[in-house]
Amino acid sequence: MSRPSPDHRPATTPSGRPRRSVPGSGLAKGLAVTLRTMTRKSVTAQYPDAQPELPPRSRGVIGLFEENCTVCMLCARECPDWCIYIDSHKETIPAATPGGRERSRNVLDRFAIDFALCMYCGICIEVCPFDALFWSPEFEYAETDIRDLTHERDKLREWMWTVPAPPALDPGAEEPKELAAARKTTEKLATAAQPESQPPAQSKPQPPAQPESERPDRAESQRPARTESERPARGGATEPGEGES
Ligand code: SF4
Ligand code: SF4
Repeated sequence: MSRPSPDHRPATTPSGRPRRSVPGSGLAKGLAVTLRTMTRKSVTAQYPDAQPELPPRSRGVIGLFEENCTVCMLCARECPDWCIYIDSHKETIPAATPGGRERSRNVLDRFAIDFALCMYCGICIEVCPFDALFWSPEFEYAETDIRDLTHERDKLREWMWTVPAPPALDPGAEEPKELAAARKTTEKLATAAQPESQPPAQSKPQPPAQPESERPDRAESQRPARTESERPARGGATEPGEGES
């Protein structure tokens, strides 16, 4: 069976003879493609002179928010490339109250990600139950030595500064539990600190202000005497009490 030619016409004529192409038609087609592409706007970004405009949630590098990490090892266990290295030790916390029980907690000694092995699947970020790992859109961390692509905890922490802020909540959305708890604690602390910093003033109770119409008229004798210069000229308005004799 004969194969169809690239221009989707049968390679043979109806009489069975091989179809002949016009000499130079292939060259003309190639030049047409070249001319068409030359007249189109270029889509090539001139990196590094021009920085690419990446979506804010691009998967560039992983940042570690160490304070949230409880060394549960879930990310290291789930990583398909086994490129997360965590070392820790246990520490005993003395009992908070007399007769109470001592507690132990994990203390992080090392947290590193080998970005030479990482395939940017994001599983570690998804499975972390304490929101300790985040995507940063930073991508300019190429190295000439492959060993430098293992980022230790200090470097992973620095990437946290490049993580974009979370998007705003929908209007009418429920307040996040963490924010609600933080707000309540702040309010409690403010209420507890108020009596110490602002003792209630021992002032005399003031009588309620009376409206102008209800105020009793001052007796004429109690009015301060006007000086000569303050008195209006004769022939104009009369001094109150002067017109009546
Ligand atoms: S993104 Fe995937 S491969 Fe990379 S460290 Fe996380 S889990 Fe491992
Ligand atoms: S899953 Fe999260 S909390 Fe657990 S070790 Fe990894 S980063 Fe830390």
